Amino acid sequence: MWPRRVHLSHGRVSGGAAGRVPSSLARMTARGKLSAKQRTLLAIVATDSTFERAPYRDGQEAWFGKCLHCNAHLVIGADGEPISRATIEHILPQCHGGTDALENLGIACARCNSEKGVRHDSKRRGDVRATEIVEKLAAKRRKRWREPA
Ligand SMILES: [Zn+2]
Repeated sequence: MWPRRVHLSHGRVSGGAAGRVPSSLARMTARGKLSAKQRTLLAIVATDSTFERAPYRDGQEAWFGKCLHCNAHLVIGADGEPISRATIEHILPQCHGGTDALENLGIACARCNSEKGVRHDSKRRGDVRATEIVEKLAAKRRKRWREPA
């Protein structure tokens, strides 16, 4: 008798818990999860000294910084979601063997990023002008570099 009662009571309790846990987990995940792009943008922001956190609107804060190419002002939400048209720039393009290492990533306005893609990244590897651009951007990234807080 005892084992059976304990088992039934246990079954009811765990049944109730099973009904609650998945939905609360789902809510937590939806609220807390950042996309890969948001996480990458925040990681670049943390290592780019042009970005400062400041009040934005409605009591929210945002990151204010500069395009790696043209120094245009860029705004990225505290959650890593771009507010202005900020894009992730591969300094040495992936098609030329560039990696996702933070040193190879910068934040560029959408216009500069697509211009570089069309005008330079599409050139064959070793193209003199494309190599110059990559070296210039890499130097600029190093100059702006800060250790993440
Ligand atoms: Zn730009």
